[in-house]
Amino acid sequence: MERVLVWFRNDLRVHDHGPLTAAVGQGIAIPVYCLDPRQWGTTAFGWPRLGPYRAVFWQESLADLRSRLQGLGADLVLRVGTPETVLPALVQELGAQRVVAYHEIGTEESRIERAVAAALPCAIEWFWGRTLLHPDDLPMDVSRLPEVFTSFRKEVEAAWTVRSPLPAPTRLPGWETVTVDAGPLPTLATWGITPPGVDERRIYPFVGGETAGLARLQEYFWERDRLRVYKETRNGMVNADDSSKLSPWLAMGCVSPRQVWQEVQRYETERVANDSTYWLIFELLWRDYFAFIAWKHGAKIFRRSGLLGIDLPWGQNAGWFQRWCDGETGYPLVDANMKELQATGFMSNRGRQNVASFLTKNLNIDWRLGAAWLESWLIDYDPCSNYGNWIYAAGVGNDARGFRFFNILKQSQDYDPDGTYVKRWLPQLAALPPHKVHTPWQLLPVERQRWLAPGDYPPPIVDLWESARQNEGLYQKAVGATPPKYRRSRRG
Ligand SMILES: Cc1cc2nc3c(=O)[nH]c(=O)nc-3n(C[C@H](O)[C@H](O)[C@H](O)COP(=O)(O)OP(=O)(O)OC[C@H]3O[C@@H](n4cnc5c(N)ncnc54)[C@H](O)[C@@H]3O)c2cc1C
Repeated sequence: MERVLVWFRNDLRVHDHGPLTAAVGQGIAIPVYCLDPRQWGTTAFGWPRLGPYRAVFWQESLADLRSRLQGLGADLVLRVGTPETVLPALVQELGAQRVVAYHEIGTEESRIERAVAAALPCAIEWFWGRTLLHPDDLPMDVSRLPEVFTSFRKEVEAAWTVRSPLPAPTRLPGWETVTVDAGPLPTLATWGITPPGVDERRIYPFVGGETAGLARLQEYFWERDRLRVYKETRNGMVNADDSSKLSPWLAMGCVSPRQVWQEVQRYETERVANDSTYWLIFELLWRDYFAFIAWKHGAKIFRRSGLLGIDLPWGQNAGWFQRWCDGETGYPLVDANMKELQATGFMSNRGRQNVASFLTKNLNIDWRLGAAWLESWLIDYDPCSNYGNWIYAAGVGNDARGFRFFNILKQSQDYDPDGTYVKRWLPQLAALPPHKVHTPWQLLPVERQRWLAPGDYPPPIVDLWESARQNEGLYQKAVGATPPKYRRSRRG
């Protein structure tokens, strides 16, 4: 029987896995994973690309994949090294006739794919599994992808095709004929990472791997029955079930987006089809959109001037940036979110939008610093979603509406009216009444004395409106437009 290496990458699952299914159909499937040292290098700004929460999640995902493959009668061969050296060596050692793998998006990933194909002494067959929609089923070529999400969504929804997820194989036959040292699972020491502590305030106890990911899908949809109210609750920052929390498993490929889509279809048949069930798919379309945008534009998504080529005079004020990172800006909503990120590796979508807007539109700090900080800390880091959202927030990506900024104070009132969220992450504000908790700088001296210990919470780093006004002026100058008369009612 033919021997086929299945090169696992960001697809740490056995369900809906095209390359694995193909290999089982062709002969003896030999699952392989390369721990590529490039994945845990440093960012352009000098801090580690791989933070502690994602490292733990990654390790757990590999352990789970190995145990699922063992349950199917095989194993996961693990090697530390670049795929372009590890894979050709394994092909020779094991006498494999071909390699199968999923394509990834990204300039670095494409370079690696070309290097692997050039180094292999046998054929490699590529599959697609990154997105809900297969690129061949898009109503347009990726090179002609609309630059505005709504146009993309409307075109897709007019000719909607999602391929059914593939079932997991029931067995991987022939493994008993393969003699190979499977290699040890990585430890955090492999990546030079100290185990992070567990913060009891965390919103969800994420555990890496397909088993936990599919269990979360079951829990959120069926046991808690929360999909029916997703649209109303998705902006919440306090409760685990406010949103699906599927992002870490989707980002590492432990759960396939088509599997989520299939469960939504089943839920709509067996329970209810409403705006909320539609909205989860809508969000998965955003994920697809940013993936296809990254494919279309390549390295541009990482460039300072973004897709629009707008050369903004971004600052890199190190002191301000550090205060943003550490949650010391004096704006409770921003600070609570940044503290949650460092304490747990997660931040809600509402939080991410606010902190990104604040960094770029109020502090005028180079958005790439913020993106690199989230890259390091997020448990669900995904290059396309992270950089796509950042250039969007910075006004240099897919947003035709120019300079838009979030009014942090209105956002605080709308999404944390009683201060429960900020009090969780900023305990020094716990004694403040709800109507004062988002504006501690307005406390009278007597109130400050009563509710805050001296020096307990910093004053605002900038004036919200004045900083936005100045930065809007810089933005309009860079795009060559006349600065509009400033309106305080701007988006919020
Ligand atoms: C500045 C910024 C950076 C971000 N970085 C990442 C990232 O690195 N990785 C990541 O997965 N998401 C990122 N997002 C998108 C979004 O914040 C997270 O996907 C979401 O908060 C995850 O929580 P959830 O799974 O409960 O989402 P839900 O609300 O339950 O959404 C379901 C799924 O839809 C997808 N999704 C939802 N919103 C978005 C969005 N705006 N863009 C792309 N996909 C989306 C995610 O896969 C998510 O799991 C970022 C958003 C911003 C504003």
